[in-house]
Amino acid sequence: MFTTLDRLKRPDPVIFAIVALLCASTLVVYLQHRALVALDRQTAVILQKVAEQTATAVNLEIRRTFDGPVFDVLPAVNHPLLAAGRLDLLAPHYAKGLNAYPHVERFFVWSELTEAVAPGEVLFYGGRGSTPVSRAEGERDPLHLFYRDSPMGRRVLETARRYAKSQRIYAAVSERIGQTPYDFFVRLLYTDAARTRFFAVLGFLVNLDTVRTRLFPALYERQFAALLDPRDGSPPFQMQVVDDTGRIVFGGRMALPAVAARSRFALQFYPEEDIGPRMASGIPSRQWTLVISPRAQSASSTIASTRTQSYWLSGLSVLLMIVALAFAVQSRKRAEQLARVQADFVAHVSHQLKTPVSLLSAVGETLALDRVRSPEKLAQYVDIVRGETSRLSALVERILEFSRAGDSRRGYELEPVNLAVLARETVEAFGRALSSNGYRIQVVDTGAAPVVVADPAAIEQALVNLLDNAIKYGGESREVTVQVGITRSDATIDVIDRGIGIDPGERARIFERFYRGAGAAMNRRGFGLGLAIAQELVAAHRGRIEVESTPGSGSTFRIRIPLGHAAAEHEPRRILPGFWARLRGPRMAGEARRRGTA
Ligand code: ATP
Ligand code: MG
Repeated sequence: MFTTLDRLKRPDPVIFAIVALLCASTLVVYLQHRALVALDRQTAVILQKVAEQTATAVNLEIRRTFDGPVFDVLPAVNHPLLAAGRLDLLAPHYAKGLNAYPHVERFFVWSELTEAVAPGEVLFYGGRGSTPVSRAEGERDPLHLFYRDSPMGRRVLETARRYAKSQRIYAAVSERIGQTPYDFFVRLLYTDAARTRFFAVLGFLVNLDTVRTRLFPALYERQFAALLDPRDGSPPFQMQVVDDTGRIVFGGRMALPAVAARSRFALQFYPEEDIGPRMASGIPSRQWTLVISPRAQSASSTIASTRTQSYWLSGLSVLLMIVALAFAVQSRKRAEQLARVQADFVAHVSHQLKTPVSLLSAVGETLALDRVRSPEKLAQYVDIVRGETSRLSALVERILEFSRAGDSRRGYELEPVNLAVLARETVEAFGRALSSNGYRIQVVDTGAAPVVVADPAAIEQALVNLLDNAIKYGGESREVTVQVGITRSDATIDVIDRGIGIDPGERARIFERFYRGAGAAMNRRGFGLGLAIAQELVAAHRGRIEVESTPGSGSTFRIRIPLGHAAAEHEPRRILPGFWARLRGPRMAGEARRRGTA
């Protein structure tokens, strides 16, 4: 009752530990989850920012490419040189332009010089060649690098003439030539400030079909790849180009990514802002869209791998906590068990002490009061004193034996022991020490002489405890047989009696300390420790004791010790030659072994 109340008042510290650990684990998991959510969000924000920056960079690159020919190529040769007919100077610039700006299909030129060769049309440079212009003057002919494409050439010059009336310098036109949609860009070079007459026309053609099919892959290869997939460890991005009608021009279809930056650019091949006021005509606005998003595997795999890693880590820490908890619970259980065993032990011992002590004190009191008159009575009392004193000393002896057998620090003195010799000598000595006569302990010579590495004193003690029981519970028969043998891997010593036997229900308990069976009820001698001690001693030699018994007709106890095995749990520490060992005298280990294996 008290203990229950006590427990209610003071909760079990292990419960505290369990609760604390559970809270800690929950906290770990929760904090980690929050950290991961925050990480996800931050990663998304960072990726979005980087995607926007990348989109801006790519957009600038597109713009720079689209505006390039108007800025670099068309003004490359100045007015006076062109007016002087130096068309040969144009060709290298056109070549460079074609190389640098993949959207340009071909450049063209018209001047009085070309008019003489191909009246009413412009001459082309680059693109798929047509009729070469050749007047057999070879290298020195400034036009030998250009070619004619009459229908197209005429269309371009007509356009130029049409827009020259507006007296502006530039014109951009979107027209179909045949089946192909083209953007022309035309630059007019006027002879006078009033712009009434032009002496040359320069410009280029953009094939809009190739823009759709080949431009962006080419640009991607040349310029964008470095921006989108930098090899510096930053996350790679993918790119998509969508035209003004929503059709995907480049980059394939992508699953709607959570993170994506969009940026619009005009599909115009001239710098609108810079030259807009000087243009006779422009292209109607065509707004295409650039979509930049992190490559699926990059973003999600980075996040996923961080996530798995941290889940593993926290899982591991929770697991460690649980293991620690299990250890705590386990050791607490052990401590409880130990405390219970100790309490039981003390209770048993005091119980065993109670009877002799109270008998002795009663006898003492009677003697002190001088109430014992007759010599017979006195002799009876002296008998009681003698009997109880010997019972007390036997109890003390048993307890000491027991504590020695159970002491893990006990050192065993190991040596090769011939069990046949040991059994014979032990039985002899035991028979001599036996107080009650009329018992016959017979050692059967089976011819087996197994040798084991063991502490002879310990084996003797175990055997003596079995012999003691065989005599005690031998009933009327008074015949005990001891037999040494060898099985496949063990040496055995059997102690066989024809006594009262053991009830099957008791058989499992007889090795418990302080357990005394029903058969022991008539026999006051004993504390229920003999078998517990014997088992402890044999177990220290990696052996065991087995029992077979038929109630009413006897029992066989068998000590089994593995052949050639030492008592590994207990290293020999001190030399304590047993009492029986001294009786037995010196033994030749080598000889014994030879006999044992024979
Ligand atoms: P102690 O050996 O401590 O003096 P004990 O003999 O009662 O006391 P154990 O030797 O441990 O205790 O034996 C436990 C019980 O097993 C005995 O009380 C007895 O009931 C039973 N027992 C042991 N050996 C035999 C046997 N050979 N025949 C019948 N019963 C036995
Ligand atoms: Mg006993």
